[in-house]
Amino acid sequence: MVNYIIITGGVISGLGKGITTASIGKILQLHGYKVTAMKIDPYMNCDAGTLRPTEHGEVWVTEDGGEIDQDLGHYERFLDIDIPKYHNITTGQVYGAVIEKERKGKYLGKTVQPIPHVTDEIKTRIRRPAKESNWDFVLVEIGGTVGDYENVLFLEAVRQMKLQGDRVIYVHVTYVPVLVTLGEAKTKPTQHSVKTLRGIGIQPDFIITRSEAPLDNVRREKIAMFCNVHEEEVISDSNIDNVYAVTLLFEKQDFCKKVLHKLNLRKDHNNLDVWEKFIKKIRTLKNTVAIGIVGKYFDIGTSQLSDSYISVIEAVKHAAWNNNLKPDVKWIDSKVFEKDPKKLSTLDLLDGIIVPGGFGLSGIQGKIDTIRYAREHKIPYLGLCLGMQLAVVEYAQNVCNLKGAHSAEANKKTKHPVIDFIPDQVKIVQESQYGATMRLGAYPAILKKGSLVHKLYGENKVYERHRHRYEVNPDYVEQLEKCGLIFSGRSPDGVLMEFMEISEHPYFVATQAHPEFKSRPLKPSPLFDGLIKAAKKKK
Ligand code: GLN
Repeated sequence: MVNYIIITGGVISGLGKGITTASIGKILQLHGYKVTAMKIDPYMNCDAGTLRPTEHGEVWVTEDGGEIDQDLGHYERFLDIDIPKYHNITTGQVYGAVIEKERKGKYLGKTVQPIPHVTDEIKTRIRRPAKESNWDFVLVEIGGTVGDYENVLFLEAVRQMKLQGDRVIYVHVTYVPVLVTLGEAKTKPTQHSVKTLRGIGIQPDFIITRSEAPLDNVRREKIAMFCNVHEEEVISDSNIDNVYAVTLLFEKQDFCKKVLHKLNLRKDHNNLDVWEKFIKKIRTLKNTVAIGIVGKYFDIGTSQLSDSYISVIEAVKHAAWNNNLKPDVKWIDSKVFEKDPKKLSTLDLLDGIIVPGGFGLSGIQGKIDTIRYAREHKIPYLGLCLGMQLAVVEYAQNVCNLKGAHSAEANKKTKHPVIDFIPDQVKIVQESQYGATMRLGAYPAILKKGSLVHKLYGENKVYERHRHRYEVNPDYVEQLEKCGLIFSGRSPDGVLMEFMEISEHPYFVATQAHPEFKSRPLKPSPLFDGLIKAAKKKK
């Protein structure tokens, strides 16, 4: 029978609940259980596809084309499984389904209400993964913090689950701040947050405390007493050098054993050595590799965020570690080069450059200039989606001499739209049908024998995940190839250009896809691995 671990948050958002959830999942998996995870996002959007990256972080793309909160990425990376899109539940989806059912008369005669109709819909969705596969554990992370208006019905639904006989463990993740003026860790916010949770009818089985330093016994006792748990049910999750090591932090506190004990589960294999070895290795690496991510979704207010490119950053790390190098990731705002082109020479300090995905006009010229610099100065380059489209634009402008060549996304009136709408996108955009209508999810590509990309993958046909409306304009393919650009992977019908490279360069590879979504800590993405190998050589 499936077991549910419900993860809620308290005190503040941004505590790393996603990493905590993924780490709980990993530890159960390393102890021999079949684990998956779900994310509940209480916003009204049906999915994350229409959210601004600087506001909500990266949009994660699943194999089956879901556009989802970045936490699903953490789950996939830690658990090394593909998670389908229905593992994400939003208020928009739930209400949409309830309203549709109401209109179809599915509740005929009834007053349709938040409880039980909305909560029933939520529970049906939470129980779906266990219906479709024999998971031992389904982890359910509820976004936001307890006390937010918008997650009340989700909390009510998971409260009901236990009452109705589901095997449920509640884990509450809170924050224990240290007031600089006092120098003391304070448990009061945790106490209040648990009080709110208990007011909803949920008594946590475990409290995980996020804090800078490990939780001491005085605070542990206090939290246990005021929050109605045993001391050993308070788990310290203090800041750590590497997110993948949180798993070991939990193991040290016998967290897995305690969870199993609560559920009367005994089966307890121990496959932790692979993970321990991996953590040990990455902690002892000395030589660094400097990779610049030239993007634009960094600034929000006065803060700088890297969340918009989290999967790209993780993919760089995985590949660096695979090559026994310590990743040194630099975030570079392409708009800087537009204001001051002289700054382009700072790119010389990098061992490799990535231009990641992006939308709209801003920062485009800075990216094109970056790509030109990488090409001309032979700095290893990897282009992802927009990073490939702009590499094609740059090549068309500066090598093929197609004056004014551009992407139609950046310049609608360009004389040479070397990048243009995928045909079925024209109508979609005209009708403003923006939600979930890009070319989304995994698509196959046939690789050109003898190409660098073919060598890197070691396969003839590969599947990578996509998220875009534009593509290389087929009308220009022949012309671009004539002046040296190599399209090293195409859709099986030969129409869409999926990969490109140029020769006489240490590494200049780009793809219309987002290979970063398939990179895993112990299985780096081939294109990132290739970039790091070339960067290592450059060093
Ligand atoms: N804006 C481009 C497109 O829609 C690239 C998208 C991306 O980088 N994911 O095609």
